[in-house]
Amino acid sequence: MELYSTLSRTVEPLETLHPGRVALFVCGPTVYDYSHLGHARTYVVFDVLAKYLRWTGKEVFYLQNITDVDDKIINRAKEDGISQSTLARRFEAEYLRDMKSLGIDAVSYYARATTHIPEIIGQVRRLIEKEVAYVTESGVYFNLDTFEHNGELSGQERALRVSRVTDATKHNPLDFALWKLGEYGEYTWDSPWGRGRPGWHIEDTAISEKYFGQQYDIHGGGLDLIFPHHEAEIAQMESLEGKHPMVRYWVHTGFLTVKGEKMSKSLGNFITIRDALKAWNKDVLRYFILLSHYRSPLQATDDGLANAAKGLDHIRAIATQDKGADAEGRKAFVKAMESDLNTPMALAAIQKLAGSGDLEALRGYGEILGINFLKETSAPLSVLHEIRAELRAQKQFAVADLIRERMVAAGITIADKPL
Ligand SMILES: [Zn+2]
Repeated sequence: MELYSTLSRTVEPLETLHPGRVALFVCGPTVYDYSHLGHARTYVVFDVLAKYLRWTGKEVFYLQNITDVDDKIINRAKEDGISQSTLARRFEAEYLRDMKSLGIDAVSYYARATTHIPEIIGQVRRLIEKEVAYVTESGVYFNLDTFEHNGELSGQERALRVSRVTDATKHNPLDFALWKLGEYGEYTWDSPWGRGRPGWHIEDTAISEKYFGQQYDIHGGGLDLIFPHHEAEIAQMESLEGKHPMVRYWVHTGFLTVKGEKMSKSLGNFITIRDALKAWNKDVLRYFILLSHYRSPLQATDDGLANAAKGLDHIRAIATQDKGADAEGRKAFVKAMESDLNTPMALAAIQKLAGSGDLEALRGYGEILGINFLKETSAPLSVLHEIRAELRAQKQFAVADLIRERMVAAGITIADKPL
């Protein structure tokens, strides 16, 4: 497979550190509110990437962090008169519910920032020992002047960079906080430098180092995270042991836009996943998202969604009779997915496969894309698949096998992946 990396600014063949295995980290949500369609786009894309790589036989460890300590959480909890943990647990559950509703289930492990405080403190301590971080009366800061690869990912001139908060105690206004000293209520911890809480960027590298080590394969997230967040992650991790690059494939999803503007909480132009799912089902939402290449901007419009619904209906309407394998169509699908996850091309291949009546391919590729392309008995079937997967996860193989037998007898093919 080939993937575009923001770091090299080219499409590169995917060569992982351990052949056959892929370590994938994607920045998760800050759990203070409902997620919106912009988030849905990013997480659908990485869900498809992980599922496709697994389909090709690779073992994918897909790690996502949950940012549950943050200014926004502190402020929102105060507004609502509830504890930070109550707020964070509530919106973490809402996030996971939204992901499930969207058919996003490829993540191997969700890691909360607040359950990795010892790892975070350990990393900050090591950065101070390496003399790339310093302590002031307001916190611990990373000294960007010490990092030679600074700016490589975003390609921005350092002069253009403006730190949001100027703090007189910092050596350089661009230095970012690793640890913020102070009392922040419930989420405040003791540290060698005094009570406080972690900065945002250190959470990701503490978590990724714990599960993947100092180098891993793919780091994903929205385009808006490149600077400063991902640059900061690189500076932290690469300064620890000098291993470069921390990640070879930096994969960034383009913006979801509304009337030309990025959908965001701060602009107030967002549609929550919850609300979108009232108007459109998950198959239509995923089809709509995947009709655009993940790096292109995607305009969220009612017309666009209505057209996606029509396109999907059309596929279901023509894919009724099983006419066997369509080798050309299958090749086209795989080729598209191999080419930097070109889902618009892959969906064109799906249309062809629908036309030629390759129902088996539509079913299998539908699982990769998380879209049900077949009309017949689709809902009860997917429920049966889900129940079987759950039974197998609970090692109730006898019941799972019985369901399988009956399904096969009814002419439904099932390809179980090994557990
Ligand atoms: Zn992150």
